[in-house]
Amino acid sequence: MNVDFIAELQQQIGEKFVYLTPEKIDQYNFDGTDRPSNPYAIVEPETTAQVSTLMKLASKYKVPVIPRGTGTGLTGGALALNGGVVLSLLKLNKILSIDPVNMIATVQPGVITQELHKILEEKGLYYPPDPSSYDASCIGGNIAEDAGGPHCYKYGTTRDYILEMEVVLASGEIIRTGVKTRKGVVGYDIHDLIIGCEGTLGIVTEITIRLIPYPQKITTLLAFFPGIEDVVNMMAGLSKIRVVPATMEFLDAECLKLLKGRIQFTIPQDTNVLTIIELEGDNEHVDAQIEPIGEVCFENNGVDLFIADTSQKRNSIWTVRRQFREIIKETVKYKRAEDIVVPISRIPEFIQKSNAIAEKYNFVNYNYGHLGDGNIHCNMTSLEKTAETLERGTRAFTEIFHLTLALGGTISGEHGIGITKLPFVSLELSSESTRLQKEIKKIFDPLNILNPGKIFE
Ligand SMILES: Cc1cc2nc3c(=O)[nH]c(=O)nc-3n(C[C@H](O)[C@H](O)[C@H](O)COP(=O)(O)OP(=O)(O)OC[C@H]3O[C@@H](n4cnc5c(N)ncnc54)[C@H](O)[C@@H]3O)c2cc1C
Repeated sequence: MNVDFIAELQQQIGEKFVYLTPEKIDQYNFDGTDRPSNPYAIVEPETTAQVSTLMKLASKYKVPVIPRGTGTGLTGGALALNGGVVLSLLKLNKILSIDPVNMIATVQPGVITQELHKILEEKGLYYPPDPSSYDASCIGGNIAEDAGGPHCYKYGTTRDYILEMEVVLASGEIIRTGVKTRKGVVGYDIHDLIIGCEGTLGIVTEITIRLIPYPQKITTLLAFFPGIEDVVNMMAGLSKIRVVPATMEFLDAECLKLLKGRIQFTIPQDTNVLTIIELEGDNEHVDAQIEPIGEVCFENNGVDLFIADTSQKRNSIWTVRRQFREIIKETVKYKRAEDIVVPISRIPEFIQKSNAIAEKYNFVNYNYGHLGDGNIHCNMTSLEKTAETLERGTRAFTEIFHLTLALGGTISGEHGIGITKLPFVSLELSSESTRLQKEIKKIFDPLNILNPGKIFE
């Protein structure tokens, strides 16, 4: 621990914002991975000025600072790898304004995403990005990872709703990126560089988000199919009749085995894929779409279509879908998941070949996720967890990443790189692209103190 740094920090931002006890450190010593983290202090500021002071002192003493939301990240982005300070943004958690005329809201990064959804919904407003962790993760973490979620199929990811941000740089300087208006093209797009940078280029301390009207009606359809090819054909069929659902989620045959008894619908025999198709819009529009969607499903071998038209039925489906990660985890000792993306037309090939890879490495493979985006959560699982299982998992996922890229996809759709996928970045990015990106990091953070060791070596 750098004692001089801590003493000056306590003196400048106040002792009560700097925590050194093991109990407090333990509260922030994890994320969604099982990896270790070893910060020597937690700083929990209440103002942007305090964040700026922290960074000025961190620059002076060359101390690593790791920004953190609620720690649900799945790639180790919020972990302290070599000591340093974890900067928790959770006390910057106010909704500062909601402006229904300009359809914007200004919020702080520690606001929990679902809380924001609820408050906006009461006012007839909608902020669609909804990672499955939205009851736990916060806006700052969602921005740093450019989080996706079921409704991003129709509406786009977090990035598409972030208009303007206040950002504290590694030097402690405070800048504003983006614009509060709907359009703006002045200068290079630093704003979009910060979004999805995993806290390596700047610390987001205030955000203006874009809003849309909350839909008048929401109806959820569950459709069961014999095979994944049928589902891909069904999606093409929906495009032909000009229907764009709000969600197009899926669970594969292995997942269906775990679903029994957890949903209020009977799983029809001989079905291997469940899709969750949600429609959002005005009453007439949503009602009018149900029958044509049903026809397209049946034309493509759909076996049954259930309609969840009450919020209770809808919630029961979404609760199970959003908890699916934990549901799998409860049944196995080892589980490693990655969030690859492939073009829609290559999904059947990915599923078939990923199952073959699972068999080769003696894993049971669960595939589910945001099918409409081609974003598949591929889960290799085993009933035992030893050093050998971990090593076998790495070999299996190396093949999965090669397969993904060969199919024209990308190794991460929404969870980012952090540390867990760091060894695989060079499979996707050329050395020139990596060089440019490392140069960008150097411009923003010449001392390499802001979340070091993430994304790139
Ligand atoms: C059950 C479960 C389901 C999930 N489902 C999804 C999903 O559907 N879609 C999806 O995209 N992700 C999903 N995730 C992953 C995770 O929830 C998201 O990545 C989320 O955006 C992380 O938010 P957080 O507040 O927990 O951030 P943290 O985990 O605390 O941090 C994540 C990264 O953001 C950086 N960071 C945090 N706050 C700031 C800030 N203010 N300024 C700069 N950098 C910052 C950190 O340094 C770190 O690199 C899921 C996770 C779980 C556990």
